[in-house]
Amino acid sequence: MREKPSVLFLSPEVVPFAKTGGLADVSGALPPALKRLGLDVRLVLPLYRTVREKDIEETLLLENLPVPLGTRTLTAKVLRTVTQEGIPVYLIEREDLYDRPNLYGNAQGDYYDNLERFAFFCHAALRLAAELSFYPDVIHCHDWQTALVPPLLKGPFHKDPKWTGTPVVFTIHNLAYQGIFPKEKLPVTGLPKADFFHMEGLEFWGNISLLKAGIVYSSAITTVSPAYAREIQTPEYGEGMEGVLQKRKAALHGILNGADYSLWDPARDKHIQMNYSPGRMEGKPVCKKALIEEMGMDPGLSEQPLLGMITRLDKQKGLDLLLKVLDDLFKLDLGLIILGSGDDALRKSLERKTQTYHGRLGLYIGFDEHLAHRIMAGADLFLIPSRYEPCGLTQMYALKYGTIPLVRATGGLDDSIVSFDPLTKKGNGFKFVPYDPKAFLKTIREAVRLFADKETWKKLMVKGMQADFSWDRSARKYLELYKTLVRKYEALGAETEVRQPLRKNIPTPSG
Ligand code: ADP
Repeated sequence: MREKPSVLFLSPEVVPFAKTGGLADVSGALPPALKRLGLDVRLVLPLYRTVREKDIEETLLLENLPVPLGTRTLTAKVLRTVTQEGIPVYLIEREDLYDRPNLYGNAQGDYYDNLERFAFFCHAALRLAAELSFYPDVIHCHDWQTALVPPLLKGPFHKDPKWTGTPVVFTIHNLAYQGIFPKEKLPVTGLPKADFFHMEGLEFWGNISLLKAGIVYSSAITTVSPAYAREIQTPEYGEGMEGVLQKRKAALHGILNGADYSLWDPARDKHIQMNYSPGRMEGKPVCKKALIEEMGMDPGLSEQPLLGMITRLDKQKGLDLLLKVLDDLFKLDLGLIILGSGDDALRKSLERKTQTYHGRLGLYIGFDEHLAHRIMAGADLFLIPSRYEPCGLTQMYALKYGTIPLVRATGGLDDSIVSFDPLTKKGNGFKFVPYDPKAFLKTIREAVRLFADKETWKKLMVKGMQADFSWDRSARKYLELYKTLVRKYEALGAETEVRQPLRKNIPTPSG
C-alpha cells in the first residue's frame, strides 16, 4: 500500500469560497493539513454565485461534462483553481442549479430542488474524477449534500473496475441536517429503487434520507468529536438516526476538529486593531476598546467584563437560554456583544432586548467574518451555551485569542473545555452541564467573579493562548483512518476480487 493515500474531498462549502458554518472551516483547513502530511488531496465544490463573485483565478477545465440527472443527461462546466496552500479545487458550474443568492435556501425555506442540485453535484464529481483519471485511494464526503456518493459507488458505479472497492469516508458535521426528500423523487438520485429504497437502505420513514445513505453505505463514518460520536447513538441527540448509527458503531469514529491558526491567531490577524500574543498582551485591551467603540457601546465597559457570542441564530445554539438569563445577567456590571444571523423570531427577541440594555448589549445581525475576528479579540469571555454541539470551533478560536470560553458540556465543547478549578488552577474555561438557565447564570457569575482576580485571569488567558488545537493532530487521525480502510479494502480485493489492486494514479497535466 502506498503510505500516502490520495483523496477526493467532496464538500458543499469550503473556506474561502463559500461558507455558512463550521463545515466550511473544516473543509478549508483539513485538506491543507493532509497535504502537509504528504497526501494528494483534491477538492470538489459547486460553483455558487458567492464563489463567482469572489474574483478567483480559475481556468476552464471542461466545457461539457455529461452528467445524468434522473432520466436526462445534462452538462456541467468544470473550472479549476488552486488554493493558497496548493490544493487543486474543481468547481462544478451549472448556472441554473448554483447561481443563486444563497447556498441552500432563502426566507421561504430550502430551495425546492436541493435534491436535484446535490445529486447532480455527486454524479458530476465522480464523472469528473474519471475524466481526469484521478481514481483516488479514498473518497471523503461531508454531510448530506455529498451522501449520494457512497450508494452510487455500491450501485451504478459498482461494475466499473476503476471504482470497485474504493473506500468512502462520510463525515457528519451536524446530524440535524439530514437531506430528507419525498420518495417520488428517487429517480433523481440515479439509484435503482429495489436495491436502495428499503429499511436497510436510504429509506427513512417513507422518505429518502441522504444522511442515512451516507451512514449505511460508507466504509467509515466520522463525526467531529468523540463526545458527539457517543451522543448521537442516544435518543436525546440522535435525531431519530440513533438506531442506524448504533448498527454501524464499529465503523463510527469521533475525530475532534482543529482550529486554523493561519486564519485565527491574534499575533497575525489582519482584522483586528492591534496584534497580540502571550508575551505581548498590550493589544488585547486596545482591541477591546476599539470593539466597544465600533459597536457604539458604553465606553466604561472597557474596565468591566465584556462577553461575546458569534453564532447562527438557531435553537441549537442555546439562545433561548441566553434570553432567559439576560435580565439577571445585566444586573451584573458587564457588557455583551452578539453577532448572529438566522432565525427571525430569535432576531426579534434579541432586538427588543437591545432597547432595554442600550449601551451594554451590542447586537449585529448578519454574517460578518471581519467583525467575528474583532469580537474574538475584543471580548473577555466567550459564551457557547449550545443545546448540542458536534464540535464547535469558536471555543478553540476564543482560547487562542485569550477570550475565555464559557460552554455547555456537550459534544466537542465538552471534549475541548475543562472547567477551571480555582484551587488546583487546572482547566481552560467554564462549563455547565444541565441545559438550564440557572446553571448557565451561575457559571457566568463564577466567571465574572474570577475576572476581578486580574492575575489569575491573565494566567488563564495565556494558558488558553498557548494550547494547541491545530489541525495537524486531527489530520494525522484521518490519515490513520484512510490507511486502515485502504489496507482493509486491498485485503478484501485480494480475497474476493471485489477490488482491483490499487491503481497508480495518472494525473493528466490539467488535473
Ligand atoms: P456551526 O457550524 O454549528 O455554525 P461552529 O462553531 O462549528 O458552528 O462554526 C461556526 C463558524 O461560523 C465559526 O467560524 C464562526 O466564527 C462563524 N460564524 C457563525 N455565525 C457567524 C456570523 N453571524 N458572522 C460571522 N461568522 C459567523
